[in-house]
Amino acid sequence: MIVNIDFRSDTVTRPCKAMKKAMFDAELGDDVYGDDPTVNALEVYAAKRHGFEAALFSSSGTQANLLALMAHCERGDEYLCGQNAHNYKYEAGGAAVLGSIQPQPIENEADGSLCFNKLSSAIKADDFHFARTKVLSLENTIGGKVLSLDYLKQAQEFCQQNQLILHLDGARVYNAATALKVDIKEISQHFDSMTVCLSKGLGAPIGSVLLGNKTFIAKARRIRKMLGGGMRQAGILAAAGQFALMNNVERLIEDHDNAGYLAREINGISGLSTEAYKVETNIVYVDVAAHVDMNFVTQSLADQGILITSAYIGMRLVTHKDITREDIDTLITHLKKYLT
Ligand SMILES: *Cc1c(COP(=O)(O)O)cnc(C)c1O
Repeated sequence: MIVNIDFRSDTVTRPCKAMKKAMFDAELGDDVYGDDPTVNALEVYAAKRHGFEAALFSSSGTQANLLALMAHCERGDEYLCGQNAHNYKYEAGGAAVLGSIQPQPIENEADGSLCFNKLSSAIKADDFHFARTKVLSLENTIGGKVLSLDYLKQAQEFCQQNQLILHLDGARVYNAATALKVDIKEISQHFDSMTVCLSKGLGAPIGSVLLGNKTFIAKARRIRKMLGGGMRQAGILAAAGQFALMNNVERLIEDHDNAGYLAREINGISGLSTEAYKVETNIVYVDVAAHVDMNFVTQSLADQGILITSAYIGMRLVTHKDITREDIDTLITHLKKYLT
């Protein structure tokens, strides 16, 4: 019996029937002409919902982050970010390659934040030897961890004092809002620009939105075209994104509860421990004892149709709308079998 239980990421979520119907029924036009009513409606809705002047629908979070950096910066500018930031580490160096924008990474603190003293000393003086420090880019959630509202406020003040633009890679920002039990604006209000992934826990097949003021979004729209990101009857995708924002936000709490449950169950298995990592949202990190053959475990699980991400030091398990309690119990049953 091959089940398909996928703990690798929340990007594996598949559109539900109702979402597919919304896509099927979407009114379409050519978005490069600005004619797609469904894309336009999503952009208006997303801007309002997150408290920005304007929004831009884009094909991916990677593209949305790149558009943000390229719209904020000129060649020879730089952005401050975390050593573990997605837009530094996991986006193929796009800002440097395509934007001639230099990253200045800073070691992330244990809670995922960036220390303001360390950031301060990385800001470069106005001197032609140096790149021009232009943007601070934060990420929330980062590795499943939530940045506090107080920290975000401090970051905003820090940027005002240092004439920096503050960007949020908010791929999983709704997981942060859910964990903090606040409206999304409590987070977004601190930022000059923000990206939101519609295709992770929110369950759309494709798409992110970039948010900011009108001038910034107009510039980003031009760059999106330059990068080959102008899409035509994109309303078929925007409809899924709109559906995701309207229907799949409240349920994220289930993923967080399931992650907590998963972590507790894991801790009952000898050789596995999540104790070193607090589960704050939908991502569970597991330390695995040195004697455990993770290749064997991963392969044995895969043979049963259960997919996980493993490294030799441990596992990363992600809960999402297509993972039920029962799926978690199935994983636990198999792990117990392979580990004892
Ligand atoms: C997933 C993710 C992105 C963008 O990913 P895409 O696969 O390009 O949509 C950006 N930032 C973070 C923090 C992410 O988790």
